[in-house]
Order: sequence, then structure tokens, then C-alpha cells
Amino acid sequence: MKSRLSHRDMSDSRIPHLGVLRLGHRRDRDKRITSHLGLTARAFGADEIYLAGDKDPSALETWNSVSKRFGGNFQSRHEEKPLSFLRRFSKDSGDGKPGTIIHLTMYGEPWKETLPKISLDRPTIIVVGGTKVPGEVYRLANHNISIGNQPHSEVAALAIFLDSFVGPIDNESHFFGGELRVIPNAQRKQIVNFEEE
Ligand code: SAM
Repeated sequence: MKSRLSHRDMSDSRIPHLGVLRLGHRRDRDKRITSHLGLTARAFGADEIYLAGDKDPSALETWNSVSKRFGGNFQSRHEEKPLSFLRRFSKDSGDGKPGTIIHLTMYGEPWKETLPKISLDRPTIIVVGGTKVPGEVYRLANHNISIGNQPHSEVAALAIFLDSFVGPIDNESHFFGGELRVIPNAQRKQIVNFEEE
């Protein structure tokens, strides 16, 4: 019996291209949490993160460096105009057809009920806020989704949502390449370093 709430199991490759849009990044205040947000996006199966707000090359460097060491094809870039980007994506996600926009917000509908209604056929952007989120984001979103209706963290919200939406990730295929591979071990830290072999 499936114990998790998930759209797919490991043999199901129907999950669409997944981007995460991080709104309102403030270089000084949000450095650490934005860095963790990108790492969480990568680790839980997103393909890409778009950083809006302050330009912050250090965040992009961190994500690139982790991908180089631990593998996979996670992309990141700064997005100068996030609302225009979302408006365009809501009409044309690259093939002339609308993409799906999911906005994570404590004011949204419960994720466990909304998850089965989300289309798996279209490229998808998951929007998370930082400072106050513009009202237009709620209107552009196909789904405003809450991970509980209490305020907490964009990192927690994204992790829970992605884990539910994407399901288990096959480390070998998803995080291909890379210099390091962690071998799960109950007693000690075990890492294979391909660079040294
Ligand atoms: N102070 C901001 C505001 O007034 O909108 C929100 C700050 S909150 C720490 C940052 C982001 O975390 C939110 O924009 C949302 O994406 C996410 N978040 C926080 N709590 C959430 C929840 N219960 N469900 C879904 N997302 C949540």
C-alpha cells in the first residue's frame, strides 16, 4: 500500500518541467534562506530556480557548485521582471500554450485536497514569496496552495509540496554525473569521490 501522498511512483515519469520562482529576494536579509530554498528545490526534484528581487550571484554560485559536486542538471538564473515572466508563462510556456502556476501561500487551499487536481501535462512554476506577495500572483496562479494555514517558511512549504508532488527521486538517474555520491549508511559518513578514483 502506498504510504505517501504522491502523484507518481519511481517508474512514473509524468512530472512536468518544474521551475521555482523565488520572489522578493533581499541580498542581506535572505541570503541563507534563499540559498536553502534553491538547494531544497534541487534536492526534491525541481529542474530550475528563478531568483527575483535583488541580484545575488553568490546564491547562483552556491547552487551551481552543489550541482557540480553532487550531480544533476539543476539550472538557476536571475529574473528581472517576475510578474511579466508569470503573465507570459500563464499564456505561453514555450510552445504557445499556457503553463501551470502554483503559488504556495498560507491563505490557499489545503495541498492534500488540491494535489490531485493539478495537471501533469504542462510545464509548471511554483511561486514562493519572501516579503509581501503582490495580489496579481494570486490571480495568475492556477492553484493557490497552503501547506497548513499557519505561517512558517518557504523552505518548509516547498519541501513538503515537492515531496508530495514529485514523489521519490531516483538518485542515480536524477543526480547523474557529479563528483561525489553519498552512500546511505546507518553507522558512518560514506562518500564516493569519483574525482579521486
Ligand atoms: N510576510 C510575507 C507576507 O506577508 O506575505 C510572507 C512570509 S513567508 C515566511 C514567505 C513565504 O513562505 C510565503 O510567501 C509562502 O510562499 C511560504 N509560506 C509560508 N507559510 C506557508 C504555508 N502555511 N503554506 C504555504 N506556503 C507558505
